[in-house]
Amino acid sequence: MVSVSADEIRELYTEYRSTHPRPEPVKTEFCEVVESLLESEGLKSETYEVQICRLHEYCEQKIESELVAEAIGCSPSYARRFSYDDERGGFEKEWSKSNQNEKVSPGARTKIINRDGGSCLRCGLEVETALEVHHVLPVSQGGTNDDSNLATLCSHCHEAAHGGSKTSGKIVYGEDGFSDWIQERSLEERGQSLGSRQTKISDY
Ligand SMILES: [Zn+2]
Repeated sequence: MVSVSADEIRELYTEYRSTHPRPEPVKTEFCEVVESLLESEGLKSETYEVQICRLHEYCEQKIESELVAEAIGCSPSYARRFSYDDERGGFEKEWSKSNQNEKVSPGARTKIINRDGGSCLRCGLEVETALEVHHVLPVSQGGTNDDSNLATLCSHCHEAAHGGSKTSGKIVYGEDGFSDWIQERSLEERGQSLGSRQTKISDY
């Protein structure tokens, strides 16, 4: 196998992008070189996400989703989810942003909801279709998909946990404050004012 480098991939991509219509032979060569480099790094057996991430690192720029899809073997719409964004400071940020919205698998969802008694831990809602799995520590802050970091909340409480927007990557309770936070709701229901008890949205 001929050894290939990221420089080669970058050059091919520049050539590909500067030609209209997109040149098929360059596309084919690009895909072969990408596959070869991923293979040599032992990444071909990794997830599409890992491969897409690496491909963007090779090119140091946003790559057309159609081409990413060809090179990696995924669908263009999937490739679009992981695109590199120059304005936001590169791939790393965009990458963590997509991780942050990472969905828990359906199997894990069922398991966590069953563990939590089939209801929202904060308000007790038992409407199955409204229940969601919340990352106690957001993925963007190093949280994992381990059971210990997952908790059942209804859609409403889930939004509240994130200060109104589930995609904000922020949480309204401080470190280790989740169990206190889910109790606040019951105080609220008893008519007590939350007042200053409410934790400020923490920066991260
Ligand atoms: Zn709730």
